[in-house]
Amino acid sequence: MKKNYNLLEIPNINSKDAKFKELIYSVDDSLFNKDNYSKKELEHLCVCSGGTTSSCAKNGFKTLDLRKNYSKIHLNSENNLVTIGGGVIMGDLINHLEKHNRSFPIGLSKLPGAGYILTGGVSPLSRAYGLAIDNIESIKGFLGNGTFISLKKNQINPEKKLIWEAIKGAAPFFSVITEIGLKTIQSNPIKVIEGFVNLNELSEIIKLSEKFPENISLQWICAQKIYIYIFAELKNNLEDKKTKEYLMLLEKFPGLEKNFYNNFSEINFFPKELDLYELDANNHSEVISLLGEDLENDIPIFIKCLKQIMDNKPNNSCYIASQQLGGKTKKLNHGSSFFVHRKSTWKPWIYASWKKNDLQEKKIAMDWMYKSWRNLKRFYPNIHLAQLHNHLDSHSKELTLAFGHRIDELKTLKNIFDPQSILPPL
Ligand SMILES: Cc1cc2nc3c(=O)[nH]c(=O)nc-3n(C[C@H](O)[C@H](O)[C@H](O)COP(=O)(O)OP(=O)(O)OC[C@H]3O[C@@H](n4cnc5c(N)ncnc54)[C@H](O)[C@@H]3O)c2cc1C
Repeated sequence: MKKNYNLLEIPNINSKDAKFKELIYSVDDSLFNKDNYSKKELEHLCVCSGGTTSSCAKNGFKTLDLRKNYSKIHLNSENNLVTIGGGVIMGDLINHLEKHNRSFPIGLSKLPGAGYILTGGVSPLSRAYGLAIDNIESIKGFLGNGTFISLKKNQINPEKKLIWEAIKGAAPFFSVITEIGLKTIQSNPIKVIEGFVNLNELSEIIKLSEKFPENISLQWICAQKIYIYIFAELKNNLEDKKTKEYLMLLEKFPGLEKNFYNNFSEINFFPKELDLYELDANNHSEVISLLGEDLENDIPIFIKCLKQIMDNKPNNSCYIASQQLGGKTKKLNHGSSFFVHRKSTWKPWIYASWKKNDLQEKKIAMDWMYKSWRNLKRFYPNIHLAQLHNHLDSHSKELTLAFGHRIDELKTLKNIFDPQSILPPL
């Protein structure tokens, strides 16, 4: 087979630079034949949807790029369910829905693909509408043993129940999902209070946010400086009394300004002024996402810890950020899933980055990421497995902290439905 190098135009630079073995665009039987993978390298199939993670392409591995042949979006205007291909990116999804005055709780970036949905999907709208997985109505795809599956939320027989639950949060380990049916929501205007704050102000704002109603959420990023977004969905164009009261409390912070957006798709989080290096072609990076509950009385100690972490940052491209969940994400009325840490109300992530060929800087940046994780564990003990890290030493620990009491069920599913480990290993 002819080797194709550097033809994977994707946002994640580690994966973009990978000297992969082959690019495949369609699912066929040959994908599920272990003889087609190198035994020596313990090769598995990499899957690319949005291409925003460091695991969708690897040196010497094949990548199934779903973007070309699994990119359809169809909204059924009678029941407002949207069907998307497994290679659809979230920006295309909400831009399409917006034409019909509908929306979906996507995350803080329009770049991620179906991986966003399948790994949980934490949105600034999640407090009001649940995680992305809570809005899955149906899926089609293939298990790691090549079997085609088609499941609908209200028609799951007991035999398929575990597969359905595991698809919601752990799909990449045992399946390739080619189609997802999703509930959509009414598109509403959004008010965003945003701007730079200092550490004391961040502390006050976190305290306020832990009392926010479900239509308001806080997201902050601590890079060179601290930038925050308070995101408020105005249902039916109305700023209700409670929303008004909470947003008024923010008027005393001089660095914050109010912006009004007609809909979610108009918003771009983390603007250029933040000088983030996320998409810098000269840098490689890894991200680890944590989960924890309200900080309450621990806010002052947390702020102290955050300051120490930021003081020890190895370079300007590393940062820590956080988004707020809670509200509807705490409820299980959407059915059980493999996103097990339902009590969580905060999802911070640690972003470590380095000049791509500088192994020494990489080691320093990764050590900083792991040390920061250790320091933040007391506040955020669990993991949101939004990025697969089977190439890192922390993988097995992350799995245990992400899937908790369901890890053995996941291993059983993997043994049954991906017995040759064609898909990313557990
Ligand atoms: C700028 C930015 C902002 C983000 N903001 C948020 C946020 O607000 N909330 C949040 O929850 N997360 C957020 N994320 C994390 C992101 O949602 C996850 O990392 C997600 O897994 C990325 O999915 P992808 O399809 O873009 O990536 P890819 O690298 O293409 O895929 C990620 C993993 O998912 C698997 N995968 C992808 N598609 C399929 C499929 N169809 N079937 C089976 N396996 C599949 C792949 O094997 C791969 O290992 C953000 C990431 C970035 C880069």
